[in-house]
Amino acid sequence: MADQALPTSGREWHLVARPDGRPTPEQFALREAPVPQLRPGRLLVRNAYLSVDPYMRGRMNDVKSYTPPFRLDEPLDGGAVGRVVASEAAGFAPGDAVLHGLGWREYAVLDAERAVKVDADAAPLSYFLGVLGMPGLTAYAGLLEVASFKEGDAVFVSGAAGAVGSVVGQIARLKGASRVVGSAGSAAKVARLVERYGFDAAFNYKDGPVTEQLAKAAPDGIDVYFDNVGGDHLEAAIQSLRTHGRVAICGAIGQYNDTEGPCAPRNLSLVIGKRLRLQGMLVPDHAALQEQFTAEVSGWLRDGRLHYDETVVDGIEHTVDAFLGMLRGANTGKMVVRLAD
Ligand code: NAP
Repeated sequence: MADQALPTSGREWHLVARPDGRPTPEQFALREAPVPQLRPGRLLVRNAYLSVDPYMRGRMNDVKSYTPPFRLDEPLDGGAVGRVVASEAAGFAPGDAVLHGLGWREYAVLDAERAVKVDADAAPLSYFLGVLGMPGLTAYAGLLEVASFKEGDAVFVSGAAGAVGSVVGQIARLKGASRVVGSAGSAAKVARLVERYGFDAAFNYKDGPVTEQLAKAAPDGIDVYFDNVGGDHLEAAIQSLRTHGRVAICGAIGQYNDTEGPCAPRNLSLVIGKRLRLQGMLVPDHAALQEQFTAEVSGWLRDGRLHYDETVVDGIEHTVDAFLGMLRGANTGKMVVRLAD
């Protein structure tokens, strides 16, 4: 593309106030900003899909964590896939599809080392934000490496109809789990877990105490719990876990918008007698599994053995709606924002 055709400005989302509890639309602003000039070693990318993820809620708080907080009145960032529009870097050409970390905006200018080429012929671009991307690797590594899943294990996963949870349950089934149980927040999601993803049992955590519902869904107990929610779900899992059970503590979305203190499991001392292992995880620690993950999960997708769903929201102006919707459970599978195909 000739230089004069390059965009000179684009829209980007800024955080303008820090949420206290559940975020609201007024805390965000969509602003027009100049597109920086391309320097050697850099790429200009037109974003096609933006990711909205639960961890972004944590980055809106001004607290020290494993990722730095978002700064006010500056563009938010996060996973995105798009097409190179102009390249000043060897190995990248206009039209290349790339995955990178400068989401929440229409155009991204970044060092080529911070972009990863993806094969747009292998899968729809948006899949690299979901099942073939960070959430997919989280599911794969969390179940197989962190929770040391083995054939015959009975598995419970919370947040089971979401991006990570839906993949966890299906991998467990594909790898020979004796029973797969999931929890989610609506009757429609619960039906989908059983009918489409092949879970053995599922329940709506809003229908009654999780401990009682899990005990019914897994009467013989569980060996592995993949925790996306925390609180009452973790407490229920500790109750149901058998001796030497394992827990991958992946997320605590039940608490991300809490203004009161977190609800800790009141039965933690059961960990001792049952010799349970509870282990936190962060997906970047599992990059060594990337190749194996991509090969295995792509194969399952190709063969139709793994089902993948997305909730697609159109237009950059609806990115905050998508993010807030995801926090409320408006998504089934991965929530993404589509700017272009
Ligand atoms: P997701 O499940 O696709 O979307 C979030 C879901 O959370 C919503 O759809 C909603 O579903 C559920 N939810 C919201 N409030 C809830 C509550 N109070 N109690 C129970 N469920 C609630 O998101 P995801 O990207 O797959 O992430 C799932 C979890 O994994 C999150 O906790 C996230 O932080 C974590 N994660 C961790 C890592 C890591 O490296 N440790 C990496 C990726 C993701 P319902 O309708 O079912 O309520």
